[in-house]
Amino acid sequence: MPRPRRFYDVIRIGPVQVGSYYDGRGRTKHTAACTAPRCDWSVDYDGRPAAELAARTHRCNP
Ligand SMILES: [Zn+2]
Repeated sequence: MPRPRRFYDVIRIGPVQVGSYYDGRGRTKHTAACTAPRCDWSVDYDGRPAAELAARTHRCNP
């Protein structure tokens, strides 16, 4: 059973939340995930700035 990701440093940029987590293999990943209804957009990045940039530039699909 996979362990749930434990995010830290979670911030919100518009409808998108950006959080960092340890991937369990010694690395830190950064996820940007949209919380808007019916928008399943979510991406992982190796770098926090990339995740925050993606969050800022995200536009929900209609
Ligand atoms: Zn969205």
